[in-house]
Amino acid sequence: MKTFLTIEDLTKELNLVKASEKTSGLVPTMGALHQGHLSLVKQSRSECDVTIVSIFVNPTQFNNPDDLKKYPKTLDQDLELLESNGCDLVFVPSVKEMYPTKPELNISFGAIENALEGEHRPGHFEGVGMIISRLFTIIEPTKAYFGQKDIQQFYIIKKLIDEMGIHVDLRRAPIVRESNGLAMSSRNERLSAQERAQAAVIYQSLEQAKQKIVSGVKFPSVQQETERIFEGQSGMDLEYFEMVETKEFSSVTDFKNKEIALCIAVNVGEVRLIDNILIFS
Ligand code: AMP
Repeated sequence: MKTFLTIEDLTKELNLVKASEKTSGLVPTMGALHQGHLSLVKQSRSECDVTIVSIFVNPTQFNNPDDLKKYPKTLDQDLELLESNGCDLVFVPSVKEMYPTKPELNISFGAIENALEGEHRPGHFEGVGMIISRLFTIIEPTKAYFGQKDIQQFYIIKKLIDEMGIHVDLRRAPIVRESNGLAMSSRNERLSAQERAQAAVIYQSLEQAKQKIVSGVKFPSVQQETERIFEGQSGMDLEYFEMVETKEFSSVTDFKNKEIALCIAVNVGEVRLIDNILIFS
């Protein structure tokens, strides 16, 4: 496995990959890697000749400076995990390398940008769009891998690819969960053992809600029930629980759309967690 800190060095290596007509898979991450990230690496390895993982805690997608400061960093462990999981190339740029000047370009995504995560984290998707388009330009991967864990981000990137005409095959991987159902997340590192156990209720509430919805219960009453579940949990604060279509992420109450997502954001102590479950009609 080779690790690169600069665009120049990475580009030299990628030129060799392209010259040999090998396919490449990019897995963009913010580090503090866990089995969720590694599932993307595994999928890339099974579909591409060369797997590239980027590790970059992108400051432009954090609307909360404290969240950025406290984001877990475990680079040595990340590199060991990637090596033992067969990753070929790792790109670990500095902020200066990715943003030599303060970016002024504005990428906006229309309605999807202002729903759910976009509404609760203003500027978040602009930052995501900026870093991912920069990574696509630098790396020009054949395929790029993203998790359903960040379902709205996935569709933001789909829009970026479709509207910019970027030549990359977008791949989506299912959510990897802890044994208690909690979606794996780098932010879980910041939970106490008690909070981690308690946070299992997030996925339980999603599963319960999905069952109710598919058996015909109307969303508003499911939503109220979910709100009640979290009112009964000390130290947990439900930020949103919504049923949305996955085009613009606007709220829906029925199944006219092909793919529906139940999306949730919960603050567990000081840690903000998101999760979702899909319903197909
Ligand atoms: P992050 O490092 O949190 O920016 O995540 C990097 C990529 O890993 C994103 O595409 C995420 O959606 C994906 N990811 C994060 N957690 C999980 C998980 N539990 N299961 C599957 N993919 C995940």
